[in-house]
Amino acid sequence: MTDFLIATNNSHKVEEFKRILNPLGINVLSAKEAGVDLGEVLENGTNFAENANIKALSAYKISSMPTIADDSGLCVDALGGAPGLYTARYGGEGLTQTERNALLLKNLESVTKENRTARFVCSICCIIDEDNVIEVEGICEGYIANSPSGTDGFGYDPVFLYKDGRCFGQIIGEEKDIVSHRGVALRKLKEALEIRKDVL
Ligand code: IMP
Repeated sequence: MTDFLIATNNSHKVEEFKRILNPLGINVLSAKEAGVDLGEVLENGTNFAENANIKALSAYKISSMPTIADDSGLCVDALGGAPGLYTARYGGEGLTQTERNALLLKNLESVTKENRTARFVCSICCIIDEDNVIEVEGICEGYIANSPSGTDGFGYDPVFLYKDGRCFGQIIGEEKDIVSHRGVALRKLKEALEIRKDVL
């Protein structure tokens, strides 16, 4: 099958894409491996799917390669769906991820367990060529923990409590992939690609 460019500079996402897609027979290259400079992309979409499309289109135009991009984030019910599209910048540009996680916990200090429901959302856009664009989404439901746990994963994994009672930060990658928003979305992508085998 064709090689796909992963349109992200986030090394953690690259790792997850490879871990999930390679066993499914989909070969993916990071921008570095493909020798592509993705540049800065203005993510001014109004939802995850639009932003994934913006990122994929930009990378496709730069590289002329079949491209896969994701836009993802954390939506917390008690915060009216925030940080949502602003997940990567929650609390401002200058914060470390540890500070963002601490801020999230502080903002939910007075919120009880049953009201700490949250979900990770992942929109994927795959551009094979101008006429063949696939969009899929994966959602993973959970809660925001009372304190961070674990050192696995990235981003908000230490404060995202999966329904089995463990934070994503306490779960090894392969186990996270089975239930995660990215795992769900990428397995849907695999199914969609199988239907379009003729254009690959
Ligand atoms: P994006 O690169 O604009 O899609 O930013 C998404 C942000 O959401 C990332 O910077 C992470 O902070 C967060 N995020 C997305 N997926 C995950 C995940 O699987 N675990 C933890 N945080 C995630």
